[in-house]
Amino acid sequence: MKDCIFCKIIRGEIPSTRIYEDERVFAFMDIHPISKGHALVIPKVHAENIWEMASEDLAAVHAASKAIAHALRSALDTEGIAVLQLNGAAVGQVVMHYHLHLVPRVKGAPALPMSHWELTPGNMDEIKTIARKISAEIK
Ligand code: 5GP
Ligand code: ZN
Repeated sequence: MKDCIFCKIIRGEIPSTRIYEDERVFAFMDIHPISKGHALVIPKVHAENIWEMASEDLAAVHAASKAIAHALRSALDTEGIAVLQLNGAAVGQVVMHYHLHLVPRVKGAPALPMSHWELTPGNMDEIKTIARKISAEIK
């Protein structure tokens, strides 16, 4: 897509720190890293979000993220990796080209902000009602 910042990165019109590339996938370092090693994995074909992604591209991005996750672990003394992917401005997506965040936590680094939340037990009746609605819609 012409004006998409990540499409421009793939085309080399905007510089990026590339770490991986194949037929379908491009991966590079985030310029506002949440942690040391924060990387982004994107499809080469523009798709805004999970609803628009071709299943083949979705599979390719996730397969590549596994290889990159192995590399993050061996290169950076990583103890854990948060994988985050936002769909829609309502949940904070800023760049409207599908991307997986790989956010490593290296040994001794502070806890990641997005991976710690308080556990409050839900209402099981409500959970089951919602689950029935969802599963009825799965095609
Ligand atoms: P989102 O909130 O959409 O999931 O996150 C977008 C991410 O893209 C942010 O973490 C932001 O730092 C990153 N980002 C935005 N513009 C650029 C850019 O020009 N180059 C790189 N490498 N990352 C970018
Ligand atoms: Zn794009």
